[in-house]
Amino acid sequence: MTSRYGATRDDIASAIDTLGQPRYRVDQVHNGMWQQRLPIESLTSLPKALRAALEAEFPLALTPILERRSSDEHTTKWLWQAAGGDQIETVLMRSPNRATVCVSSQAGCAMGCTFCATGQAGFDRHLDVGEIVEQVLRAQHATEARVSNVVFMGMGEPLANLDAVEPAIERLHRDLGLSARKITVSTVGVVPGIERLREFPLPVTLAVSLHAPDDALRDSLVPLNRRYPISDVLDAARAYVEAKGRRVTFEYACIEGTNDHLHLADALAGRLGGFPGGAHVNLIPLNSTAAFGGTASAGARLGEFAERLTSRGITATVRRNRGADIDAACGQLRMRAANVPAVRESSP
Ligand code: SAH
Ligand code: SF4
Repeated sequence: MTSRYGATRDDIASAIDTLGQPRYRVDQVHNGMWQQRLPIESLTSLPKALRAALEAEFPLALTPILERRSSDEHTTKWLWQAAGGDQIETVLMRSPNRATVCVSSQAGCAMGCTFCATGQAGFDRHLDVGEIVEQVLRAQHATEARVSNVVFMGMGEPLANLDAVEPAIERLHRDLGLSARKITVSTVGVVPGIERLREFPLPVTLAVSLHAPDDALRDSLVPLNRRYPISDVLDAARAYVEAKGRRVTFEYACIEGTNDHLHLADALAGRLGGFPGGAHVNLIPLNSTAAFGGTASAGARLGEFAERLTSRGITATVRRNRGADIDAACGQLRMRAANVPAVRESSP
């Protein structure tokens, strides 16, 4: 059976036909679901029985297990159960000028980054197109704000699941109307995946999770570095910028005493100097996870690290750790839910 947001316009048309409904209903349903971004039950221009029939024909793929809201109301996080019992996470972040949904591309992840809760738990399966896109729509249904940005920074490695991620991006662009540059794909450095994304027609924004300026240190944090060392990842990222004309962002999770020494900021600036389009580094204080001993760098050190990069011509932003009070970091909510009964929860 096709899930609700895996269904194409043709799938909707053939359901409308089977249900003996007039053709103009196809536009009503499709526009209501994608342009107006409404749940089917809210498409009041349709007869109630038709809404019920469509809901039965195209079931939702995700069932909420937990829903948590940060105390400042700016961040909402969902833990969903998908087919087969796999659990995935989605985060909605609101600010005055944008609403961003952070989606998962896989249940679990096979990359095994030592500091990441998802990596620690291992790989379950790839998500399909409907499961990826539904995360964006379900978050949209929960907010008045219009979702403007989507980032593939939830569970999983999107470039290891491009067969579903590329068509999901197409649907977000074509059916939901998001511009490609407001869709960001974050990768740990799967070089063949970066090369394939370069050939993909939509110029989505690429983010590369670097975390270290030298291979020895990166090997210890990101096992995939042994297969695709930093120089190969940077070469692929350079080719991406040259093909797409879009600046690449580098993610750097700051771990106290491990990758936050100032000489490493110098080394990082050395590696990223002269990057086409200019490199931008996002410094993210580490979210502590059960199976990794490290902790976040102190705020003062984050500032010094950023300043050191900036003084060497690399722009850097220190990211506030949004939603830390609701375990908003990748994989953390699932870990937490494993220890509590499956209930729906909404913190004040
Ligand atoms: N697999 C992709 C995208 C999902 S992870 C990737 O690795 O880029 C999204 C981001 O969260 C990555 O930059 C990752 O390094 C970061 N991340 C994972 N665990 C983290 C933690 N415990 N603290 C801070 N950032 C973390
Ligand atoms: Fe996978 Fe990204 Fe976590 Fe690494 S950081 S284990 S690639 S989700």
